[in-house]
Amino acid sequence: MRIGILALQGDFAEHGAMLRQLGVQTREVRLPSELADLAGLVIPGGESTTMGRLARSYGLIKPIQELAQQGLPLWGTCAGMILLARETVDGVPGQPLLGLLDVTVVRNGFGRQLDSFEVDMEVPILGPPAFHGVFIRAPYIQDWAAEVQILARLEEGQAVAAQQGNRLVTAFHPELTQDLRFHRYFLQLVEQSA
Ligand code: GLN
Repeated sequence: MRIGILALQGDFAEHGAMLRQLGVQTREVRLPSELADLAGLVIPGGESTTMGRLARSYGLIKPIQELAQQGLPLWGTCAGMILLARETVDGVPGQPLLGLLDVTVVRNGFGRQLDSFEVDMEVPILGPPAFHGVFIRAPYIQDWAAEVQILARLEEGQAVAAQQGNRLVTAFHPELTQDLRFHRYFLQLVEQSA
């Protein structure tokens, strides 16, 4: 079993290190041919407009959408969550999106003062203890379809993690912590999809 990590830009290396700690083989994906035979794909944090444009010029958008339709499990963190969204309310005009999760995200959802912050959050699917959320110019989920399950919210109410079938999104960066529980959770989705 091999998990791909979109490696056009952003913190793909950290995701790779966490997955390998869990004993999983990984592959950095930059070209459509590198999407072959993956059991799952992670889209890291970074800068969603840059990542989206690179994905478009490398011809990755359509192949990823097709693999998702065929059931490939996906996980997007932060910029990756934006790329997976159906819609953004403050995206850059023409920003390429994969549109694979029926959510609307506010791209720079926490504005300037709260640009970046860290907070412990209850995540019911993970159980205790609280998960340490690292938010870096993070988005949040403003609207979602009935099929979308919200997995975590901040105390102020913003939805910051969600799942639709085997597609997972987190507005924060589990790959920048030592906590492997979200990576393990994604691997469970991958195993259930196999
Ligand atoms: N706000 C960034 C964007 O629009 C995402 C930041 C991140 O991934 N840490 O892509």
